[in-house]
Amino acid sequence: MQDLLTEIADTVGRSEERGKLADYIPELAKIDPGHFAISVATADGSLFSAGDARIPFSIQSISKVFVLALALGRVGEALWKRVGREPSGQAFNSILLLEREKGIPRNPFINAGALVAADTLLGAAAPGEALSALLRFIRSAADQDDIHINEAVASSELDTADRNFALAHYMRSYGNLENSPDRVLGTYCHQCAIEMTCEQLALAGRFLLDTGEMPHLVSRERKRRINSLMMTCGQYDGSGDFAFRVGLPAKSGVGGGILVIAPGRGAISVWSPGLNSYGNSKLGTEAMEAFTRKIGWSVFG
Ligand code: GLN
Repeated sequence: MQDLLTEIADTVGRSEERGKLADYIPELAKIDPGHFAISVATADGSLFSAGDARIPFSIQSISKVFVLALALGRVGEALWKRVGREPSGQAFNSILLLEREKGIPRNPFINAGALVAADTLLGAAAPGEALSALLRFIRSAADQDDIHINEAVASSELDTADRNFALAHYMRSYGNLENSPDRVLGTYCHQCAIEMTCEQLALAGRFLLDTGEMPHLVSRERKRRINSLMMTCGQYDGSGDFAFRVGLPAKSGVGGGILVIAPGRGAISVWSPGLNSYGNSKLGTEAMEAFTRKIGWSVFG
């Protein structure tokens, strides 16, 4: 395993064509696009890494996986009255289908759906309490305390969140947001600004494995469902292509991270800040393709 990760970091990780930084969030445009890291936390408790696996990065939309798990814990199946379970075939921040579908977002991983999940997580609590619960969940999944929110990224994102505010107002007009857009966006931008290292993310991802000595934070059925949603919706309108190339459930973020789950085997995380046209890590996707091709892990046997 170690040799494979080192080889991937030395080949894919050094590619010249590295994709484009997410410059619509000014703070993310400052990151060095030369970074690359890959980590694997196996079901039997081992951890392997190569590259910059101990440098924290902004997890961005990967936070949607943790928030979904917590929101389901809070309201259970009632969440599915407010958000769907179908891929959208649209960009992560698209408003297009919200009008046709009367303020019900297609799935919890596009921005509109994640705002509903954040609203659910909030309930009647203060944003600070909801964010503390989220950090507690992630820290216990990773079994690491040193995981924090980067306030500069959160406020940079909040300053430029016009589209996300538009989504929130639009859904609220259909009665699909309990809290004010200000409260929901304050929570959402902070959840996206959580920073983790590649190692921490792989360790935290083990909560979605169903075997081994894993942190048992959610039920088996919920793990199966969250993994299914990651497979079908985790890379937005690039989900089909990612499934074709990699064959494992995964969730990306515009910070350039991808969390990938190989059921029964382990959790993998990759980080390279440059993005492809779908807003997913370009080299991260290529690295995962190389990884699964070599190691043969797949949900398809
Ligand atoms: N915070 C980002 C946004 O709302 C998250 C998007 C992403 O990571 N795909 O635009």
